[in-house]
Amino acid sequence: MSREQLAVARARKAFETGRSKPLEHRIRQLKNLQRLFTEKQKEIADAIKKDLNKSEVGAQLYETLGLEGEISLAINKLKQWAAPRPVEKSLLTLSDTVYIKPEPLGVVLIIGAWNYPWAVTIQPLIGAIAAGNAAVIKPSEVCVHTAKVMEDLLPVYIDKELYPVVTGGVPETQELLRQRFDHIFYTGNSMVGKLIMDAAAKNLTPVTLELGGKSPCYIDKNCDISVACRRVTWGKYTNCGQTCIAPDYILCEPSIQDQVIREIKKSIKEFYTDNPKTCPDYGRIINQRHFKRIMAMLDDSTVAVGGDNDESDCYIAPTVLRDVKPESKVMQEEIFGPLLPILPISSLDEAIKFINKREKPLALYVFTSDDKVIQKMRDETSSGGLVANDCLVHYSVSSLPFGGVGNSGMGCYHGKFSFDQLSHLRSCLIKQLKMEGVNSMRYPPHTPKKLGWARFFILNTVDLGWIGRMAALAVLAAVAAVVLQNYFY
Ligand code: NAD
Repeated sequence: MSREQLAVARARKAFETGRSKPLEHRIRQLKNLQRLFTEKQKEIADAIKKDLNKSEVGAQLYETLGLEGEISLAINKLKQWAAPRPVEKSLLTLSDTVYIKPEPLGVVLIIGAWNYPWAVTIQPLIGAIAAGNAAVIKPSEVCVHTAKVMEDLLPVYIDKELYPVVTGGVPETQELLRQRFDHIFYTGNSMVGKLIMDAAAKNLTPVTLELGGKSPCYIDKNCDISVACRRVTWGKYTNCGQTCIAPDYILCEPSIQDQVIREIKKSIKEFYTDNPKTCPDYGRIINQRHFKRIMAMLDDSTVAVGGDNDESDCYIAPTVLRDVKPESKVMQEEIFGPLLPILPISSLDEAIKFINKREKPLALYVFTSDDKVIQKMRDETSSGGLVANDCLVHYSVSSLPFGGVGNSGMGCYHGKFSFDQLSHLRSCLIKQLKMEGVNSMRYPPHTPKKLGWARFFILNTVDLGWIGRMAALAVLAAVAAVVLQNYFY
């Protein structure tokens, strides 16, 4: 048995004991996970510093703080989330008990990416634990130091049989994908996303794909351009542009391009000083492969701000590109680095056309003082999420589903959405062995008269409220009795 097979078999066996299901167990595990983030902050931050040059404060702000919030939310709401959810009844089911009961799926495979290695790996784990599943955790091998810390620390805090960590690269992930899971939760690029879905199809395993793509940012001339550019600068250069929902490129009218460049330049200086290379809050490209990939995108574009770089340090300065053409290299794939192309566009309509001609993005940003522009952008485009007058912040709202659409992914998570995503929402209908008369209309011999009654019961679905339901129940019983005696036979 390979290491991967062994981990999956152990997780399956542990799941089959049933111990992941009681709410007390789930809450205990979540509390242990919470403790990890308070007790091991230093180890976590040191590893992230080595992997991505994130500062200790930055690591907390962008990685673990959100996780701590999600864990607290899950602990506080778990009883409510896991409880049976009564649903609206029809006339035919008035006397029945009808509800949805969330139940665990089984063993979930979580495949993480490297850019926010804790956030994107542990956030689905919180949902998996809360929903009562076992989970095999595969951190990204690209974040070498963080993967090691996860492998070392998670088994110390949470049930290591139910939630094993499997480290490794492509061969190890592929070996995992050959095993049978009850759900696969993958975060990463769309190309690998297709491989994941292909592997999952063999066992009809459902997938959640948290992918990326080019998230557009439209800046309207009717807005406070200074504030807009400050927020865009933050959204773009945080984590050195290696954020799945970073604004990938700017669309704006040619008349404001110079002002946009000036304001972004001002904000870069304010956030990262004159020399971002020495600024503790400015990150690094994850590795030389990605450094080369990003630098190659600069070939056919005009640098308006930044552009300096140092391969030995994986450093690329915050960079703005002007008058970028749709055919240029930087527009052919997700940038995932600190290059910000500006594409002059003649109008809002043109911007919408431009966006709609491409794959559906993970996020779409619009900056404007005009509500009508926001509404038009919202109504005439599609994307995983839409944010007006800010960047990234929707990620931190647990009550919003986070996920893509089309090429940017499928399924969603965060807060209760994580719980639901990793649960089976089981339909339950509990009937009594009484009132058999009502059922006569469905039993052969089928007659037009029975069909008439069936039409009445099925098509008259009114929201009656509590008193109405009781009254309808009484009427239903009477009708059943009459029907039984006079009509069907
Ligand atoms: P990555 O290289 O770490 O790959 C992600 C995972 O896939 C890793 O665990 C890796 O082992 C595995 N993997 C890679 N190649 C594989 C293969 N051939 N077969 C099987 N498994 C394989 O991360 P990445 O893909 O470079 O991540 C960046 C991408 O992820 C960007 O597109 C970004 O937008 C996206 N992303 C999306 C979200 C989101 O929440 N939607 C979050 C973070 C990143």
